Amino acid sequence: MRRREFGKTNEPASGGTGAGERPIFVIQKHDARTLHYDFRLEVEGVLKSWAVPRGPSTDPRVKRLAVPTEDHPLDYADFEGTIPEAEYGGGTVLVWDTGTYRNLKEEDPDYEPMSMADALASGLVAVWLEGHKLRGGYALVRTGRGEDSRWLLIKMKDEEADARRNPVSTQPESVLTGRTLEQIAAASLQQS
Ligand code: MN
Repeated sequence: MRRREFGKTNEPASGGTGAGERPIFVIQKHDARTLHYDFRLEVEGVLKSWAVPRGPSTDPRVKRLAVPTEDHPLDYADFEGTIPEAEYGGGTVLVWDTGTYRNLKEEDPDYEPMSMADALASGLVAVWLEGHKLRGGYALVRTGRGEDSRWLLIKMKDEEADARRNPVSTQPESVLTGRTLEQIAAASLQQS
């Protein structure tokens, strides 16, 4: 209970829903049939989502496969717990990182100015993350066409890039509660 309250206070500093506030991102580590990281960006009232099997990298030389998945409601962003195996998204979920982001296409003169929705449609999303574990520019790049289309998640080259860090392995715990997947799964078992 306490932990959950702590998590609430740890939400993006913007907090409320007033105009002009930064949209959020969240990365949920998800121990489903196969472990993956759900990378989600708030766009026009929903969480646009990709499943990243190997998780994000802080090394600009590394490209990580990002498979588009269903939009999720905004209030899913702070969900941690265990979803029954038989249900959609079954498995244990941990909030691996969260914070706010900026659309670089709207502020960086190197890009043609574009809303997030238009950036998604164009197949090139460029965002600046202000998270606990991840900071700096990240690009989501669509490759291929139609059924063969894939997205790649790539750290952009900037002052936050760091080839020596590997937060996926060195910082496995929840940024909301400090818990590991195993602790969350065990807590869920006790409650059921
Ligand atoms: Mn998932």
